[in-house]
Amino acid sequence: KNSNGNYEVTMIPGDGIGPEISKSVERVFAAAKVPIEWESVDVTPVIRNGRTVIPDDALHSIQKNTIALKGPLATPIGKGHVSLNLTLRRTFNLYANVRPCKSIVGYKTPYENVDTVLIRENTEGEYSGIEHEVVDGVVQSIKLITRQASERCARFAFEFARTTGRNHVTAVHKANIMKLSDGLFLSACQDLAAEFPDVKFDDILLDRACLHVTQDPTNFSNTVMVMPNLYGDILSDMCAGLIGGLGLTPSGNIGRDASIFESVHGTAPDIAGQDKANPTALLLSAVMMLRHMRLYEKADSIEAAVLKTISNGEVLTGDLGGRSTNTAFTNEIIKHL
Ligand code: NAD
Repeated sequence: KNSNGNYEVTMIPGDGIGPEISKSVERVFAAAKVPIEWESVDVTPVIRNGRTVIPDDALHSIQKNTIALKGPLATPIGKGHVSLNLTLRRTFNLYANVRPCKSIVGYKTPYENVDTVLIRENTEGEYSGIEHEVVDGVVQSIKLITRQASERCARFAFEFARTTGRNHVTAVHKANIMKLSDGLFLSACQDLAAEFPDVKFDDILLDRACLHVTQDPTNFSNTVMVMPNLYGDILSDMCAGLIGGLGLTPSGNIGRDASIFESVHGTAPDIAGQDKANPTALLLSAVMMLRHMRLYEKADSIEAAVLKTISNGEVLTGDLGGRSTNTAFTNEIIKHL
């Protein structure tokens, strides 16, 4: 908190529709009197000594505030650039990615009552980037699993299960085949389960989890799924598909040095600058951020106003089947606060 009694939070507006949807968040937060002062920063990457780095101002702001809200970033194309999202992940040790998927009343999809929460290990596993050619026609890719990274991800899952009242953690794995690597991840989860006796623990094979989620997602309404990197990448998009795609899904990247909350969708260049963007995903990411900061009342009130606006169905953006502008949609949310 600063001397005004407010929390300082870094805002990365992002590219494309990013500035429009982050403005919506700022307007809704101001109307809801959330005790937050935004520090807006630009993260357009700079190349230093041949490496892609985040500009110092942005880096220092996130380091100081330890909490950031991020709009979508256009992945730069060209030599020497690595994805900025990956850079942020590495710079701030963002070790766990949280992806809740909850059905939105008024936005019809083939599934109803979806309420899943998935936590993905975000730093290693199949995405360690260690690949080489053994001989011509034979390549090897190393899946790296460490007890330390597995444990910190599992610990976060148990804490998340406890604080959100789900009180149940399910490890998703293929330890039947990958006995050492997934076996280590599973054993780290089992060890943590002993530290959280009030949280129920079980585990499920990845293939079985896919089957059960698509047959009846309510099987997973009361648990927090936790899993290695690649499985989480795929399963989280599958869960997003159940509630209607990536456009409405929020996410949080929990880290050692900072936590960054972001919408899952991209920069939507086709509608950028036209006041057509739907700010829901970024707003729901901001709600997650508020809960992470333990500002539960503000989180509940903003979430309720967003969901009421959608379920009323009168003022909706184009992607939700309506004809309203982002500005009108945001005004309607503010009306419902
Ligand atoms: P996209 O999500 O930007 O767009 C896909 C479709 O969904 C488009 O028709 C778009 O208009 C629509 N859409 C997305 N978000 C919307 C919103 N909030 N409201 C209304 N409509 C919305 O995906 P893309 O076109 O594949 O990617 C565009 C750029 O975004 C690329 O440069 C990509 O690298 C980047 N991207 C960034 C992130 C991130 O920063 N986390 C994630 C995905 C893509």
